[in-house]
Amino acid sequence: MNRKKIKLFMPAILILTSFLGVIGCTKENSDQQPTAEQPKQEAPKQELPKQETPKKEAPSAPTTVVKNGDPLVPNPNEILVLVNKKRHLPSDYIPPDLIEPHVTFSFSGQSPKKTMRQEAAKALENLFDASQAEGMDMVAQSGYRSYSTQKQIYAANFRQMGESANQYSAQAGQSEHQTGLAMDVTCSEIGFQLEDTFGNTKEGKWLAKNCSRFGFIIRYQKGKEDITGYAYEPWHIRYVGQKAAKEIMTQGLTLEEYLSR
Ligand SMILES: [Zn+2]
Repeated sequence: MNRKKIKLFMPAILILTSFLGVIGCTKENSDQQPTAEQPKQEAPKQELPKQETPKKEAPSAPTTVVKNGDPLVPNPNEILVLVNKKRHLPSDYIPPDLIEPHVTFSFSGQSPKKTMRQEAAKALENLFDASQAEGMDMVAQSGYRSYSTQKQIYAANFRQMGESANQYSAQAGQSEHQTGLAMDVTCSEIGFQLEDTFGNTKEGKWLAKNCSRFGFIIRYQKGKEDITGYAYEPWHIRYVGQKAAKEIMTQGLTLEEYLSR
């Protein structure tokens, strides 16, 4: 009877042990799986911010070196330098390669206002050539401006407008014109003035549509005053290079937004 019983129970014992074995394996596996997978899952999560950090800390990222309470840009010679009310140029900064572009100006005679940095000047010549070929009648008005010239301009504007001068005029060290990468342009239709109505002229429309092809952006866009700190200026173009210009203009960004992505 005992042997018969054993014979009868043998399959059941075998099934039971193999079942327990399976559970054991499963449990082992299920224990191993998370420990094996966790590092795999966590590793990319930890790596992602590390990969993003260098992008955010690109050469023109929003970092400044504070000197005597003045937040100075560490890279004034870079084409993508970001200058605004929070990021200033040193008072002694003069761009290294200023030249006069061969374009039509609204005034005659020599002036530092006619100069720009070499790369920007060449790009401006190409932009003006293309605009003339398409029947536009644009003139350049004001390019490079020294720290001391900007100081005088701001003081004059402040005397006229008071605090509201801040919306239209940069204080010394805070003007893109000191970078040698900006140019104000206008046209005869509005009497060569620098005013909003330039945006409605055929030249202003052409400029907004085509400037990025030559590496320029409309720096102070309508509706972006909170970000740029300045009122809409359809006449102020800033050289940033073609790649950045195309991205900025097609996506409707400001330079601030582009550089902090
Ligand atoms: Zn300007």
